[in-house]
Amino acid sequence: MVRVSRVKPGSIAEDLGITIGTELLSVNGRELADFLDWEFLTADDDLVIDSRLPGGEPVIFEVERPEGETLGVELEPPAIRRCANRCEFCFIEGLPKGLRKSLYVRDDDYRLSFAYGNFATLSNMKERDVARILEYRLSPLYVSVHATPWEARKILLNNPRVPNIVEQLSRLAEGGIQFHTQMVIVPGLNDGDVLEQWLGDLWNLGNAVLSVAVVPVGLTQFSHLYTGKPMDLVQTAALLDQLARWAVRACDERGDPWVFGSDELYLLAGRELPAAEHYGEFAQIENGVGAVTALRMRVRQGVASLPRLDNRRIAVVTGASMGPLMPELLEALAAHTGARFELIVMENSLFGPTTTTAGLLVGADIRRALGRRDDLDLALIPAETINDDGVFLDDERFVALGAELPLPVFPSYDFIDVLAGLDQPRLAGANAA
Ligand code: SF4
Repeated sequence: MVRVSRVKPGSIAEDLGITIGTELLSVNGRELADFLDWEFLTADDDLVIDSRLPGGEPVIFEVERPEGETLGVELEPPAIRRCANRCEFCFIEGLPKGLRKSLYVRDDDYRLSFAYGNFATLSNMKERDVARILEYRLSPLYVSVHATPWEARKILLNNPRVPNIVEQLSRLAEGGIQFHTQMVIVPGLNDGDVLEQWLGDLWNLGNAVLSVAVVPVGLTQFSHLYTGKPMDLVQTAALLDQLARWAVRACDERGDPWVFGSDELYLLAGRELPAAEHYGEFAQIENGVGAVTALRMRVRQGVASLPRLDNRRIAVVTGASMGPLMPELLEALAAHTGARFELIVMENSLFGPTTTTAGLLVGADIRRALGRRDDLDLALIPAETINDDGVFLDDERFVALGAELPLPVFPSYDFIDVLAGLDQPRLAGANAA
């Protein structure tokens, strides 16, 4: 059963009399377990929907759906499948206590992998789940593989019951499913020879594996489970060299690099990031693969269209890892706008100094950076620091914090998104919060 949370005005569902709270039980005789069943079973044009209205009255709707028109209902979110692993490097295990409950949810859900690109390990899959993936052709899936040798993967996921990932992926691949994969590298466990083995195993799955993202283990000062070491410069450089050899082979044989080191790896190794062509469609940008290059590209493309902001004093707040890359971007912005930029690099007060990602800065960091800066005209902060509800990871609300600060503050993804909408008169009366 799935329950309706919203009915679109003027939709087929509203005409039928489906209301918020209506329970949808089956479509054409097939029971509904979740949003996937609803999405796929209502793809037919002729539908018989067995339901129960909020008052308990059973109703059967018979629908002839005009081609291309949706029924117009949204469903309550599904109960999320929890993760059965206990990876030593788990970011959630590395969260401090006392944050909002939703941050501690360790999801491992193939449905969210298909629908939203969340990575799943597939460790908690039942036979029925495999059958659904194949029937509904849930592709591509985003899979955290980490290693293919079974014993190594059991250690990495800290779960002796993990299934054999090569067998899982092979079976799904035979059914036409493709994957974007990620590997978190834990030095000594899945680098070196083990890396050669897992890259070979994924390579042998052919076109089923669309991309492989390789990211270094990320630890906070609260990562209490982790017994290994962080990656050092020598290991990181060796890893990038190993990946580069595979990328050359992949380009030669398949036409694209296929395996990508995350931006963080390049920054750790002190190496120049690849150009935009290397990343193709930027398939794993959400995973920190190519994000810096994409930012540079957006600035390069958008800078000429910016308004003059002569002598405006603009702060840009960022984390330690982006700090060294910012001056070249800010110089380009200053040259085109006439504004004076000030870079403010903040240490993360919640997760500690080892967490250097700009998007993980918290409200308290923004307050420390800008709380007394009435000498500035405005500030840009990383838009990734706040969620869709406008809340920072430390539960600070952006609107409340913005009202407290002595200057207008704008969340920004790429500077252009904010600066392009500014002009001198508007800026004078701006209130970003
Ligand atoms: S798979 Fe590992 S890293 Fe992911 S949520 Fe589970 S324990 Fe954490």
